Amino acid sequence: MTDFNQLYDAERFRSQAHLLADTLADYLKNCTSGTEKAIQFETPDAMLANWQQDFDNPAPKAVNTLFEKILAQSIHIHSPRYMGHQVAVPAPVTVLAAALESLLNNSGAIHEMGMTISSLEKIITQWFAKKLGFPEESYGIITSGGTLASLTAMLTARAIKAPDAVWTTGNQTPLAIMVSEQAHYCIDRAARIMGLGTKGIIKVPVNDRFQMRTELLEDLLAAARSEGYHVFAIVGSACTTATGSYDNLSEIARFAQKNNIWMHTDGAHGGVAALSEKYKHLVQGIEHSDSVVVDFHKMLMVPSLSTGVFYRNPKDSFHTFAQQASYLFANNDEDWYNTGKRTFECTRPGTILRVYTLLYAYGATVFQDIVDTLYNLGKTFAVMIQRNPAFELALEPETNIVCFRYIGDKQEASALNALNQQIRQCILEDGRFYVVSTIIAEVFYLRVALMNPLTTEKELGELLDFVAAKAPLMRI
Ligand SMILES: *Cc1c(COP(=O)(O)O)cnc(C)c1O
Repeated sequence: MTDFNQLYDAERFRSQAHLLADTLADYLKNCTSGTEKAIQFETPDAMLANWQQDFDNPAPKAVNTLFEKILAQSIHIHSPRYMGHQVAVPAPVTVLAAALESLLNNSGAIHEMGMTISSLEKIITQWFAKKLGFPEESYGIITSGGTLASLTAMLTARAIKAPDAVWTTGNQTPLAIMVSEQAHYCIDRAARIMGLGTKGIIKVPVNDRFQMRTELLEDLLAAARSEGYHVFAIVGSACTTATGSYDNLSEIARFAQKNNIWMHTDGAHGGVAALSEKYKHLVQGIEHSDSVVVDFHKMLMVPSLSTGVFYRNPKDSFHTFAQQASYLFANNDEDWYNTGKRTFECTRPGTILRVYTLLYAYGATVFQDIVDTLYNLGKTFAVMIQRNPAFELALEPETNIVCFRYIGDKQEASALNALNQQIRQCILEDGRFYVVSTIIAEVFYLRVALMNPLTTEKELGELLDFVAAKAPLMRI
């Protein structure tokens, strides 16, 4: 029989926590000093076999042995040579907040179960909404990730703009949304979950900078209407995932207002430009959106998942889920503090504590500074690539997302695709750097998202040197 007194023993916890703190601090030190690899790559099958063996042979060891093993076998996002997917490099202080939050295990659903959470969510979403240029009274909700956030906003849009009360009647009229063909796949997925089908997702072509071609919108709308579709929402990307391109939000807003269409801005990655004096021009027009999504767990150094859905008119969010649950909510009032009325999730973690802790410890400028630092770094890297004749930039970056490839002495296009794929695999297996890839117009590019503010020209130069040294030796 499990001894629960021992399981919850405070002193045992104290000593385990001290050990883990030391392990994590050593990891951070090794990352910043450059001795830690970004990744020690193992194939899925090898990894699975390894852990299956661990699971099948439970040897009662100190739990820190397990923690150290997990650390060794994970990707190391704190390495300044980690330049891969767009996830935050968590500020250590936010990790402490996350530990606190986990132990408390309060929930955001109803005020009593998360009294701190509901207040902080209101304060932070109101603060952020103002930065987006929304009116004074605007605020939003916190949800688990940009994908769920955009689905939530799309549900709000449908509740408000669809001709039928879809919540009760189901989809009666064929409904559609408009979105750039370069948008994150979560918009397509949300639309399909909502029953819109392929024809309900009008994909707007992009220009050579991968921005929505807004001059096509009126014609596309007319064509959809003539086929009996009711377009209820348009989604702007701020920015796109693959290339970091910002749609022209002012033009999208003008179109949306004229045609009584909900404007949603997917700012999961780049909505944070609104916090920067230097870069806020990129999101000009965002203030006209009806809803905006921003991930705290991408650009803002907060561990996953923590996402804000901001509503220009906060009353709109009370229409998303027109549902009663008498065991949870005493009434149907539009109270700001029982957030479960407005979020998809019921039990919901208080990830806002991580955001608030960072602001508390470093002040609001920490957010502006991280955006400026990372976006500046993107520009620096682009210049380094342009100056190096062995490399080619896919396009001038607007953000910290940079797509480029090795061209050497300019071989055939198909050979270059194969060569750059091999380069990417070589980088992965070496493990000192971590970069990803994307295909743009059938061209294979290496892709970095520079998420670590401790990455400098030194590491970026080393990456180019590494590729330039390895590529000529490769056979394709
Ligand atoms: C990352 C991203 C998403 C998805 O957000 P998650 O938090 O990963 O669910 C959606 N849209 C864009 C533009 C993104 O960059």
